[in-house]
Amino acid sequence: PAAAGAGDSGGSFDIGLPGAEEGKVVTRFPPEPSGYLHIGHAKAALLNQYFADLYKGKLLVRFDDTNPSKEKDEFVENILKDIADLGLRYDRLTYTSDYFPQLLDLGEKMIRAGLMYADDTPVEQMREQRLKGIESACRNRSVEENLRLWAEMKAGTEIGLTNAMRFKIDMKSVNGTMRDPVAFRCNLAHHWRTGYKYKLYPTYDCACPFVDAVEGVTHALRTSEYRDREEQYYWILAAYQKVWPGLPNVHIWDYSRLNFVNTVLSKRKLTWFVETGRVESWNDPRMPTVQGILRRGMRIEALKEFILSQGASKNITFQEWDKIWTINKKLIDPVCPRHTAIEVDGRVLLTLEDGPAEPEVVMVPRHKKYPPAGKKALTRANQIWLEQVDASSLAEGEEVTLMDWGNAIVKSITRDPSTGAVTALSGMLNLDGDVKKTRLKLTWLAAVPQCEVVPLQLVDFDYLITKKKVEEDDNFMDLVNPTTRFEKIAVGDPNMRTLQKGDVLQLERKGYYIVDEPYGVKGTSRPIVLFCIPDGRAK
Ligand code: ATP
Ligand code: MG
Ligand code: MG
Repeated sequence: PAAAGAGDSGGSFDIGLPGAEEGKVVTRFPPEPSGYLHIGHAKAALLNQYFADLYKGKLLVRFDDTNPSKEKDEFVENILKDIADLGLRYDRLTYTSDYFPQLLDLGEKMIRAGLMYADDTPVEQMREQRLKGIESACRNRSVEENLRLWAEMKAGTEIGLTNAMRFKIDMKSVNGTMRDPVAFRCNLAHHWRTGYKYKLYPTYDCACPFVDAVEGVTHALRTSEYRDREEQYYWILAAYQKVWPGLPNVHIWDYSRLNFVNTVLSKRKLTWFVETGRVESWNDPRMPTVQGILRRGMRIEALKEFILSQGASKNITFQEWDKIWTINKKLIDPVCPRHTAIEVDGRVLLTLEDGPAEPEVVMVPRHKKYPPAGKKALTRANQIWLEQVDASSLAEGEEVTLMDWGNAIVKSITRDPSTGAVTALSGMLNLDGDVKKTRLKLTWLAAVPQCEVVPLQLVDFDYLITKKKVEEDDNFMDLVNPTTRFEKIAVGDPNMRTLQKGDVLQLERKGYYIVDEPYGVKGTSRPIVLFCIPDGRAK
């Protein structure tokens, strides 16, 4: 039965885990080290943590490393970093590969009990037979024959390589996952941890129920699209319990898979973006990976709040990125310092006829409502830069407000006769004017050498995928957005020189940004690289 969804009660669920006892619950997060963690994995990790905490139990983290062809040290290291960034507090870190000896022992016991058989039906044909519910000719091989082939498989011989070891379940089941799934298969590739020691490996279906039970996992959380596999999991676990006395029970509990609009969340597909150079790396700010979204300016607390507000609903839905970025904005806005940037392209000099002939430096707060953000130096002078968009919206005689200074009155506007663009402005200060009565509050920077502005590169991004809801039979490669990175050159106030990588700020009247490359690390001639942080508002 579908569970009731949680309300917006700030991260609590209406339902609990079946058969859960306080102090005895053990959950686990089992990533396969075949990529970096993405936001869907973050949901899995945080839900497991949530239930472990709720019942004062334990959380295990297990590298599910049963496929040597896909797994790498790089992925293990980065998943560990992601887990640390997510703030997971786990009791033990384990590896499915730790259990290879026991799993091989188990395989032999299963063969002796007549619960597994070796099958050399070619892969395509086996798939066809499973689809149609046709029994393989190998299904009734004798125990002796199966043990002989098991030895060939363990040695990775030519004969071994042509065989797969299958569970003998039920080829006539209406549930396709029950039609004798593969349990062990040879693979001669180097395993990131055990090297060339093993020539055959358990499948996920084979290893997972055993390792869950052996590690004392009481509740195995799985995404609900694996619902069909529940029957299979319980059959396999029950079969193991027959040949491996004392193996405890495990409850499966499923929850909905997280999907996002304009996004693919499968490691196979994300790998393609990395390998074809469409993104810089797994931590590219366009990637839906934990590292990608953190680099883009997401706060971990926003990610947690979003995931726990999802509740326990089992409906598979597409989430809007705007929703999570809105949560994020509410966290960063009250605390992040404010700075000023002026786009270089088309900027206009405003001469203030009664402005200070000698530039004046005053200290102003970095955030008016948040004193801990500190102060910044502001240079006032008789020549200042405005952006073209602002300059071209002015009228002669209009009173405007210069932010952090006061009012001024526009006296003359000079335009390029052919394009109509504003090329120069003049005005007079009117510091007694009422800042509440002006239509425009302008961002500006002093245009004098004493105000050592700093070059900025402002970078914005678009979705990697053009289609809102990617469906099962879509070929994602047909949906790739050709242009996803946009750059603008600007200058920023001198205080920005001290910003560090990862600092979040607001550029007044532009939006929120995160520092990706601070000033001076790659030489002082390079601009500070700022990534625009989405704020959840449609552009
Ligand atoms: P992918 O399809 O991205 O390769 P996976 O399930 O093969 O995902 P694993 O490393 O095996 O990747 O996943 C670790 C855990 O995260 C599993 O429990 C899996 O069910 C869960 N998980 C994976 N993707 C999602 C998602 N989109 N939403 C929620 N949980 C997910
Ligand atoms: Mg998996
Ligand atoms: Mg997968």
